[in-house]
Amino acid sequence: MRALVMEQGADGLAEAQIKDIDDSQLPAGDVTVQVEYSTLNYKDGLCLSPKGGGLVRNYPHVPGIDFAGTVEASDDARYAPGDKVVLTGWRVGEVHWGGYAEKAQVKADWLVPLPDGLTTRQAMAVGTAGFTAMLAVLALEDHGLTPDSGPVLVTGAAGGVGSVATAILANLGYEVAGVTGRPEQAEYLTSLGASQIVARSEINEVVKRPLEAETWAGCIDAVGGEMLARVLGQLKYGGSVAAIGLAGGANLPASVIPFLLRGVNLLGIDSVMQPFENRARAWARIASDLPMDKLEDMILPATLEDLPQLGADILKGQVKGRVVVEL
Ligand code: NDP
Repeated sequence: MRALVMEQGADGLAEAQIKDIDDSQLPAGDVTVQVEYSTLNYKDGLCLSPKGGGLVRNYPHVPGIDFAGTVEASDDARYAPGDKVVLTGWRVGEVHWGGYAEKAQVKADWLVPLPDGLTTRQAMAVGTAGFTAMLAVLALEDHGLTPDSGPVLVTGAAGGVGSVATAILANLGYEVAGVTGRPEQAEYLTSLGASQIVARSEINEVVKRPLEAETWAGCIDAVGGEMLARVLGQLKYGGSVAAIGLAGGANLPASVIPFLLRGVNLLGIDSVMQPFENRARAWARIASDLPMDKLEDMILPATLEDLPQLGADILKGQVKGRVVVEL
């Protein structure tokens, strides 16, 4: 089978090679999947980098933190040959071989049956980024957010998580404001349903005041750092921000005042270790709430050969929407 394999050179740095490898080299697992599509997330960019971004432990390694495909063989009663499945998380593509190969062998516990109404290609257009966006929407809803609450801010809006979050929220009837550092993507974000574009420079600037005008009823934040700190002070009374990413930094130079005086909530979102029930809930909502024509507009088709360059691009914040890798 064909695979993108990261191999370490004498200098300790890893490099991608497209190779034919034998099925017997696959790591142990109780389900073998014929991978039809994979994708590219920020974490894949790290795993494709020469030092593995601190995520890859052993080489040779096959990255790809998510995939969708058809079960070829199964030792687990929950899956049979021919079943369509999707996988995200569980550190697949980081410590376990991932989706950048024509086959993957994984634990049955890590898989989710493909929901009705989604193809394997659409599932990977969604991928970990879109799945995480849906988890964030669910968390905000669980904390009381409704379309009547007011505008919702999406940061890193032209990226993978941001694009899917924008399309889902707009489709659910929310007024969406997208923060982007790429003004040339304003039209793209409007086409996904954003009704307001906020320049990154406007909201990245640190201010001394811990509270600003109550502006956002909620926020899905892919950026972290100073931007997240600033957003906390702009939330409406009782509003919530779902923190999903750190594209702008891992530090949070924030004040506790918005928590104490406005009762705002900071909700942490992890997509990797989510239990099966939450995964199934999120995938079912993706199938019902993400408009497929908008998803199609986000897709950048790619092959294994394109991935080393695209991996470098995503780390620089230069990928728009969702890369879909056909195996
Ligand atoms: P992308 O690169 O596709 O999107 C990130 C976006 O953030 C960019 O497109 C850009 O948007 C913006 N951005 C990039 N750099 C900066 C910066 N220095 N300052 C401000 N904004 C910046 O990545 P993904 O959407 O795949 O992932 C986004 C983040 O979410 C990553 O940090 C990733 O690790 C994290 N993540 C976390 C998950 C979890 O389980 N919690 C799961 C999936 C992802 P624009 O050009 O529009 O400004």
